[in-house]
Amino acid sequence: MRLVLVGPPGAGKGTQAQFIASHLSIPKISTGDIFRANVSGGTPLGKLAKEYMDRGDLVPDEVTVAMVRDRLSEDDAQEGFLLDGFPRNVPQAEVLKKMLAEFGTALDLVLELVVDDDEVVRRLAGRRTCRSCGKVWHVLFDPPAEPGVCDACGGELFQRDDDREETIRHRLEVYQEQTAPLVAFYADEGILVGVDATGPVEEVTQRAMAVLRRFAD
Ligand code: ADP
Ligand code: ADP
Repeated sequence: MRLVLVGPPGAGKGTQAQFIASHLSIPKISTGDIFRANVSGGTPLGKLAKEYMDRGDLVPDEVTVAMVRDRLSEDDAQEGFLLDGFPRNVPQAEVLKKMLAEFGTALDLVLELVVDDDEVVRRLAGRRTCRSCGKVWHVLFDPPAEPGVCDACGGELFQRDDDREETIRHRLEVYQEQTAPLVAFYADEGILVGVDATGPVEEVTQRAMAVLRRFAD
């Protein structure tokens, strides 16, 4: 299956993508994770992306689209994939559509994770990310056994620079202006399904999986 997750920063896209991709045995492709790996690796792409990410702005489309094209051309993405954080605006969605058409395929479904702004701020403010494996935790909602240490790999947890209050507010504005129009774009294409993303992580996963099973039948 070829899937996209959309939703505001902090909606739980990364968290859900991990479970959904593993249930469906498809790769999870998160543009945010790929950019962050490039930033920590000090690559030219990372150096370019960092200034945009630190401000909470989108990295230019040209750069982002080229990166996604490379990733979607890899062997493991030929039978399906779950995109998390891409597309992030209508021009990216249009390029993705063309790109997939060139590959002789198309998206099957776009899941919109629906959650209100207050909850998004609570989720982002307590988000902690593992420096080694990238797994995401929350100080209150999903705490690791030992504060500051990743249960999965023992790595050090850190707060993302763009999860500070000022930047969070700006990212929410960027979402409303640039990313929210994707909901109408994909509704017009007839492939958008909204999923209530409130409540425990497992319940949200079950709701998403119920939608995907309905689609597969
Ligand atoms: P969140 O999980 O909070 O929604 P991400 O990890 O997806 O954030 O993205 C972090 C940052 O990486 C974004 O604020 C943006 O600067 C950059 N980024 C990620 N995906 C894209 C994209 N598709 N287009 C442009 N910039 C992106
Ligand atoms: P996104 O990728 O959409 O920015 P994340 O998956 O990184 O969102 O989740 C943001 C924060 O919210 C993380 O700290 C995560 O642990 C927490 N979180 C995710 N889903 C839930 C949920 N259903 N209830 C409470 N907290 C959640």
